[in-house]
Amino acid sequence: MNLPKVFKSLLAGTLLTIGLAGCGPTSSNTEDKAASTPTTAKNQEVNVYTARHYEVDQELFNKFTEATGIKVNVVKGEAEELIERLKREGESTQADLFVTVDGGVLANAKQNDILQPVTSETIDKNVPKNLRDADNNWIGLATRARIIAYSKDRVSPDQLSTYEDLTSDKWKGKLLVRSSTSLYNQSLLASFIELNGEEKAEQWAKGIVNNFARQPDGGDRDQAKAIAAGTGDVAIMNTYYVGLLANSKDPEEVKVANNIGVFFPNQETNGTHVNISGMGLTKHSKNKENAIKLIEYMTSVEAQEFLSAHNYEFPVNANAKKPELLNSWGDFKMQELNFDTLGEHNKKAIEIFNKTGWK
Ligand code: FE
Repeated sequence: MNLPKVFKSLLAGTLLTIGLAGCGPTSSNTEDKAASTPTTAKNQEVNVYTARHYEVDQELFNKFTEATGIKVNVVKGEAEELIERLKREGESTQADLFVTVDGGVLANAKQNDILQPVTSETIDKNVPKNLRDADNNWIGLATRARIIAYSKDRVSPDQLSTYEDLTSDKWKGKLLVRSSTSLYNQSLLASFIELNGEEKAEQWAKGIVNNFARQPDGGDRDQAKAIAAGTGDVAIMNTYYVGLLANSKDPEEVKVANNIGVFFPNQETNGTHVNISGMGLTKHSKNKENAIKLIEYMTSVEAQEFLSAHNYEFPVNANAKKPELLNSWGDFKMQELNFDTLGEHNKKAIEIFNKTGWK
């Protein structure tokens, strides 16, 4: 049979729910019954469009299914492509939840009118206000900081201070960072546009390009590897990649992680850049109750601790314990800005990158 994957999994979900309806718990007490099977058979699923590419998300979806019997059907894609798809599908969409990295993309999804507000006391309790959309059109799932990684052999942390300092002459030919096509860099620069203005943001980008150890190449992990290989001394990268390297099955990657230190810049000024992943209930969700249950689960202490322990992102739930490695980095001051601004300045950021020759 040549059915598209999503349709197949939807079909499987339907079959599963038919099965469940026939063998639910028998109880003579109707109240009990209502409490244990609050949804009708056809609602025992939730459909997720996700732009996050981490294994841990699927593991959490599986745990959610185990706990609730609600099947999670997943469609993966690029964020922009999924937003376009949701717009195109309109009322007929199967999607209940949109999940992505990047606050700018989340703001963009809201602006495109593909999301709707979520009302849940549990979610409001799980996630602090600054890590949710003002109208609960999206809810934070995890955060990561974009830090300076440095060679423990060649750099002492007291030589480091701010993102701005990375443009000074002392780092000439020593700075590593990935391409400007990465949303991570676009949002970093967008945050500088918001906090320092366009002119300073452009000066910064120019200064960074001047100090490149090489033309941008590879992802965040490759910058850490290039430090270990001696290509450069400092790199701009996301914290969770340091965690993934440190806990890799590949001993070479563990060695790379042992070679680098993590420095949180701008602690004396406006804080380290932090970006967020989030989940939004789609405007035309057909399984709204289940979708909200999934958001409640994903933001619970249990799920947040699992996510942080396996993907090394920071939990959004303040009661969730962080893994030892994240604790070892210590607390830090994060940039205080509305995540919406990352989306607002995205175009300008790309323009500046092009102008300053940051590939
Ligand atoms: Fe990533």
